[in-house]
Amino acid sequence: MAERLTIEDLPGVGPATAEKLKEAGYTSVEAIAVASPAELAAAAEVGENTASKIVAAAKKCANIGGFETGDTVFERRKAVGKLRTNSSSLDELLGGGVETQSITEFYGEFGSGKTQVAHQLAVNVQLPPEEGGLNGSVIMIDTENTFRPERIAQMVKGIKGGEDLDPEDFLKNIHVARAYNSNHQILLVESALELAEKMRDSDKPVRLMIVDSLTAHFRSEYVGRGTLADRQQKLNKHMHDLMRFGDLNNAAIVVTNQVQAKPDAFFGDPTRPVGGHIVGHTATFRLYLRKSKGEKRIARLVDSPNLPEGEAIFSVTTDGLRD
Ligand code: ADP
Ligand code: MG
Repeated sequence: MAERLTIEDLPGVGPATAEKLKEAGYTSVEAIAVASPAELAAAAEVGENTASKIVAAAKKCANIGGFETGDTVFERRKAVGKLRTNSSSLDELLGGGVETQSITEFYGEFGSGKTQVAHQLAVNVQLPPEEGGLNGSVIMIDTENTFRPERIAQMVKGIKGGEDLDPEDFLKNIHVARAYNSNHQILLVESALELAEKMRDSDKPVRLMIVDSLTAHFRSEYVGRGTLADRQQKLNKHMHDLMRFGDLNNAAIVVTNQVQAKPDAFFGDPTRPVGGHIVGHTATFRLYLRKSKGEKRIARLVDSPNLPEGEAIFSVTTDGLRD
């Protein structure tokens, strides 16, 4: 295998420029190869000419080839499943539900309902497709110790005709791991790949991976500007590992994220999701959750490749998510 180039190996990238690029999240030759020269010039504080040369050099040596024809893509997309949420308005906003082979990010303040959504999806994924599920099991990476079997039981009982269902049958298909720090969190995706591989031919293959919360450990461990590049690089790898998990298993990837204050906001919402453009670019669907009156929640679809922006109102009830 050819030796992997680092960004310092690119002509025109000295240590100072490399540092600036990394801080801006350009941590690999591939990331630079697909950047626009103007974007790069601003990030690394170099002239546009220099930036063009750096991007051109990166394109030459980066591994960004790998064309596939549209029909191959179409074939893979045909297998995409949709996991319903129990709220028809939220499902509609998502174009039918949470998609497999994609990362869906729910971000919002504390108490906005992110963990509730995660629990509901962990129940629903086990249902047959005609009931909105994917006939699958779920792997959950719990970083904040907020997984509650009792809550799953309430949601199972809340299913139409659910009085006759045994919550234990559902709990058996939820594989939960606590992640104690960000490195552990990253490693757990490897274990998840192994577990999913083992279960691939079972009657409940893994069709959903939840990371609740994606960013909490990263945020608390990497404080201070000097550590930002390192954090973004780790987060970037983690996101790509998750994406790969979704592709390999035809699984939906659902991650939750917090918001942080945006100090430079004069207009609009003064908060933004943690993780900057690394998380933003890798998540296929981003939903911003806000509390409304009582059990009502507002979900805004912020970013999607093929759906219009919009809002949905849903409720978090004792029985689970509802319209
Ligand atoms: P976060 O976005 O921080 O993960 P959660 O998903 O934990 O927020 O949402 C917590 C909220 O969910 C509570 O404030 C409450 O409104 C609602 N909730 C949690 N458990 C129940 C329950 N058993 N019955 C009804 N509502 C609940
Ligand atoms: Mg939570």
